[in-house]
Amino acid sequence: MREKLKCLRCGKTMEFLMRENIQLGKTGWVLGDLGNLMAGALDVAVLRCPGCGRLEFYQGDWMDGEREDSLPQVACPACGVRYDFDYPKCPACGADNPNF
Ligand SMILES: [Zn+2]
Ligand SMILES: [Zn+2]
Repeated sequence: MREKLKCLRCGKTMEFLMRENIQLGKTGWVLGDLGNLMAGALDVAVLRCPGCGRLEFYQGDWMDGEREDSLPQVACPACGVRYDFDYPKCPACGADNPNF
């Protein structure tokens, strides 16, 4: 399991607040030239400290890692690949998820 993230200021466990796409301006809001390289939106996960209200931003795919840790998985009856139980089909061979 992934370690809980602790607030750098007061040490309390950060709690998940939201996941959001931040729109990046063409002129490169905050990130300068990097904003031009990453066209469109930046996928971020926002965590909040319940103790001091500090907000921390993480890449959105950090949440995907969390999801993999916590979601049960099924094994494909056709090819044996394991995948998240809420997928209707096997991502490898396309066989139907037997739980659907
Ligand atoms: Zn704090
Ligand atoms: Zn399969």
